[in-house]
Amino acid sequence: MNEDKKTALLSSWIDEAAIITTVSHGRPDGDAAGSSAAMAGYLSACRGKDAEVLLPGPLPESAAFILDGTTNTTDRGDAALRLQRTDLLICLDFNTISRTEELEDLIRAYPGRKVLIDHHEDPEPDSFDLCFSDTRVSSTCELLYRILLAMPDINGDAGRIPAPSARALMAGMTTDTNNFANSVFPGTLRMASELLAAGVDRDDIIDKLYHSERPNRLAAMGDMLSERMKLLPCGAAVTVLPQAFYDRHGLQDGETEGFVNMPLAIKGIRLSVLAREDGPLFRVSIRSRRGTSARLLAKADFHGGGHEQASGGKILIPDDIPSPDSAEKYICDITARFLQQQDTAKN
Ligand code: 5GP
Ligand code: MN
Repeated sequence: MNEDKKTALLSSWIDEAAIITTVSHGRPDGDAAGSSAAMAGYLSACRGKDAEVLLPGPLPESAAFILDGTTNTTDRGDAALRLQRTDLLICLDFNTISRTEELEDLIRAYPGRKVLIDHHEDPEPDSFDLCFSDTRVSSTCELLYRILLAMPDINGDAGRIPAPSARALMAGMTTDTNNFANSVFPGTLRMASELLAAGVDRDDIIDKLYHSERPNRLAAMGDMLSERMKLLPCGAAVTVLPQAFYDRHGLQDGETEGFVNMPLAIKGIRLSVLAREDGPLFRVSIRSRRGTSARLLAKADFHGGGHEQASGGKILIPDDIPSPDSAEKYICDITARFLQQQDTAKN
């Protein structure tokens, strides 16, 4: 089915539903929040629906404003009650239901129609009744923008998208492109231009996202770069942040968001792997320059996946390593071997 037909079908399902709920992935980011808030805002303002956003966990502080004005919950009990009343469930910014983490069993058990709108590789179409999946966009926000434009009441006019939804779309696209540094397509700039023309205050979004750091986050960044980051001769940077690092700097888990990108600023570094201790495991974030696949490394060695240049996964204790102390050596060995294999395959 082409996208126009799918959009028409989604629109008819929206007509048939009174109560519509959205859900996004665990440890939600700006794109998760932006697509959720934009969809919910559209459904309530333009279609008169009772719309609510479910998120399996809190947002980073700098992205929390994106949900302003939307009804939302991170509470599992509330989510379970909401799903009992829901006529249509819209799943945003994840490819497999396992990424809804604490809510996974509730989402799997939901008996009604499930629609997926997402931009990750390898979606699980069998888990959904209707699937919008495109990896050639910056973000779920960009794909949702295209879908909203094709809705009969919006009819290609960005100015008809409700203002809070337009702002949420711009904010989510901005965080997923790292403020236009990666995954920018012609449609991404078109969307930015049309939303600006429609009156979105981008300066305010940038202030909220990037000019509202707490000083201790910057201090932690300095500590990470001077003490924790290891540069390998193969062109990789490996950074392990133990729980003690978070305690010392008074940081929450989400507050090291973006740290993994920094080593790529160093000439010759093509891969950055950052592991954060999180209770009984390490959560791994991987970023790469073009020509090196972050996705393959996450898939092969860290029980994860993601995009070509931005992916993630986990290190399990004791399955992968006997104790947290061995994390750094484990990642250095895996990463050096991975780059060597990639180089051999290319030559
Ligand atoms: P981040 O490093 O920002 O946590 O994640 C970057 C990207 O990696 C996400 O957008 C997502 O596509 C992917 N990702 C992160 N963690 C996991 C994971 O545990 N499993 C899979 N399959 N993908 C992940
Ligand atoms: Mn995304």
